[in-house]
Amino acid sequence: MNIFVLMKSTFDTEEKIIISDGRIEDDGVDLIINPYDEYAIEEAIKQRDEHGGEVTVVSVGTDSAVKQLRTALAMGADQAFLINTEEDLDEGDQYTTARILEAFFEEREVDLILAGNVAIDEASGQVGPRLADKLGFTCVTTITSLEIKEEKAIIERDVEGDTEILETMLPLLVTCQQGLNEPRYPSLPGIMKAKKKPLEEIELDDLELEEADVEPKSKTIEVFSPPKRSTGQVLQGELSDQVKQLVSLLKQESKVL
Ligand SMILES: Cc1cc2nc3c(=O)[nH]c(=O)nc-3n(C[C@H](O)[C@H](O)[C@H](O)COP(=O)(O)OP(=O)(O)OC[C@H]3O[C@@H](n4cnc5c(N)ncnc54)[C@H](O)[C@@H]3O)c2cc1C
Repeated sequence: MNIFVLMKSTFDTEEKIIISDGRIEDDGVDLIINPYDEYAIEEAIKQRDEHGGEVTVVSVGTDSAVKQLRTALAMGADQAFLINTEEDLDEGDQYTTARILEAFFEEREVDLILAGNVAIDEASGQVGPRLADKLGFTCVTTITSLEIKEEKAIIERDVEGDTEILETMLPLLVTCQQGLNEPRYPSLPGIMKAKKKPLEEIELDDLELEEADVEPKSKTIEVFSPPKRSTGQVLQGELSDQVKQLVSLLKQESKVL
């Protein structure tokens, strides 16, 4: 089976996010594999081990994504592609990413594409479904179980706490959700092997794309943190006094009465 995983490098959630001029500062920030993409990588490896074939991980990004692609190879993927946009593009949106990926898949034989349910930084959940639409593939989101029997896929998906069971055919794009599997940590031999596995960098030119073909359709106007919450106030004294204080505060300070 030709299995592909879409992988995005995202901020480490343990990192302190700094916003300046309406954008998240990414200088010197530690990046990680988007956590939902770890489920996708793990599932791809499991399906390959069961059915044979190859796992290819692909990321649209900059040089900084090489480290996460190597981690995916160390987990057990067979090869990786970085579609490096550093030289060609200053901005992009979900359309840009999906359009670039569409061009990447145009000439490739594909049975299964696994993406994360959502990227934890920008969190639109659009890239997988947009790509499936462009490729004319069936798309099933938030999957928690995948069983493939020849050309058929039996899928369980999470629907707000309920489980939906679907049957569909390959080729297929799924987006992966917590509960699908337990992503493995790269082993030491895996890390050593990953250094020799193919990791190819390509650019828009290689995909016969011009900057104008991938121009974003939307623009982020501003990004800001929620206002800091002030500390609470603990009322003291008899209950009847506390009620009076509360009513007075609601009238005079919060002005909600
Ligand atoms: C050239 C370029 C410039 C950009 N510039 C800006 C900018 O200036 N400001 C800004 O805010 N954002 C920028 N972006 C980021 C972009 O808007 C989104 O982050 C990106 O398209 C994915 O959207 P999302 O984060 O909502 O992912 P979601 O749709 O939530 O991601 C869901 C899944 O899709 C897959 N996926 C998502 N992104 C990628 C990827 N890059 N490669 C491979 N798989 C992926 C993963 O499997 C992921 O789990 C830029 C993107 C590009 C390509």
